Amino acid sequence: MKAVQYRAIGAAPEVVTVPTPEPAPGQVLLKVTAAGVCHSDIAVMGMPAGSLGFPLPLTLGHEGAGTVAALGDGATGPAVGDPVAVYGPWGCGTCAKCAEGKENYCLRAARLGIFPPGLGAPGAIAEYMIVDSPRHLVPLDGLEPVTSVPLTDAGLTPYHAIKRSLPKLVPGSTAVVIGTGGLGHVAIQLLRAMTTARVIALDVTEDKLSLARAVGAHEAVLSDANAAAEVRELTGGLGATAVFDFVGAAPTLATAGAVAGTESDVAIVGIGGGTLPVGFGSLPYETSVSSPYWGSRSELIEVLDLARAGAVDVHVETYGIDDAPLAYERLHAGEINGRAVVVPEAA
Ligand code: NAD
Ligand code: ZN
Ligand code: ZN
Repeated sequence: MKAVQYRAIGAAPEVVTVPTPEPAPGQVLLKVTAAGVCHSDIAVMGMPAGSLGFPLPLTLGHEGAGTVAALGDGATGPAVGDPVAVYGPWGCGTCAKCAEGKENYCLRAARLGIFPPGLGAPGAIAEYMIVDSPRHLVPLDGLEPVTSVPLTDAGLTPYHAIKRSLPKLVPGSTAVVIGTGGLGHVAIQLLRAMTTARVIALDVTEDKLSLARAVGAHEAVLSDANAAAEVRELTGGLGATAVFDFVGAAPTLATAGAVAGTESDVAIVGIGGGTLPVGFGSLPYETSVSSPYWGSRSELIEVLDLARAGAVDVHVETYGIDDAPLAYERLHAGEINGRAVVVPEAA
């Protein structure tokens, strides 16, 4: 089968032919129908030798959807032919966090060498993929795979971040979304569907800002040195109730800190490597800063339910498997509007 792999430190991803995998006992083989392309892969491919934590080559893709092609011995639940989405942050399934469905915060995954598909285990940008347990599948149940596959990360990650702040996002509140790409443009829609907050979006190009407006942002502001002042003014000087930074670089975190209001939440979702100093007086009183990672199994079910209710419309650009390296290039260059999705059938 064809697979898109990151094969050597610093190299560009490549389309290669590898043996079609067979499910071991307990596993599920999926015929991939769609796989999303996330900016985190670019961060992974930018890591120096020695800091990856898993061996190469790596089949990329941690947003996956497919149809069940085969079940390993003892794997029960889904039936061959079922259309499913993959819950990506695999954990051990039995620790206290996993027992709550929070496999994204598994207490034992690192020790046991359990990695998400595409981030250590073979990923979804391939014709077939192995899912380690039926527990990590959610039925698509009528959802279209290409436009829904980004919900497994670009939807689930902002959903989890927003859900934490729901008690604060009351009428009259303001949510600021920094970076309106794959995750950010879904975050805007989730905020509109789940809250009555006024949504202010920040990005660096007019293309991104027009997508932000099209998907529901009340205001769209160019993310430059004046952005913080502009957001303060839009909030009558009070600042934001919640800030979701989908970039996480030094300049955006400076903006995030500068627009945060009293008792606000700042979620650092982007892995841009910046830091936000926290200390008495450095942020408004009782500001909470967090660095959430992905989401829980039940939250993925909730996000898919929200999509079935028509509340989320992911803006996708599709690529055949042979063009997946081009999708990464364009994402790296900031040229993807919404989410790039690889569709192996279209190859
Ligand atoms: P993306 O490239 O689709 O979107 C990033 C957006 O940020 C783009 O629209 C870009 O124009 C914009 N941007 C860049 N610099 C900016 C600036 N200075 N100010 C405002 N906007 C700016 O990427 P994505 O796939 O949506 O991922 C977003 C970030 O979230 C990445 O850092 C990714 O690694 C990270 N991520 C984190 C998690 C998590 O669990 N914490 C999960 C998925 C992705
Ligand atoms: Zn991701
Ligand atoms: Zn666990």
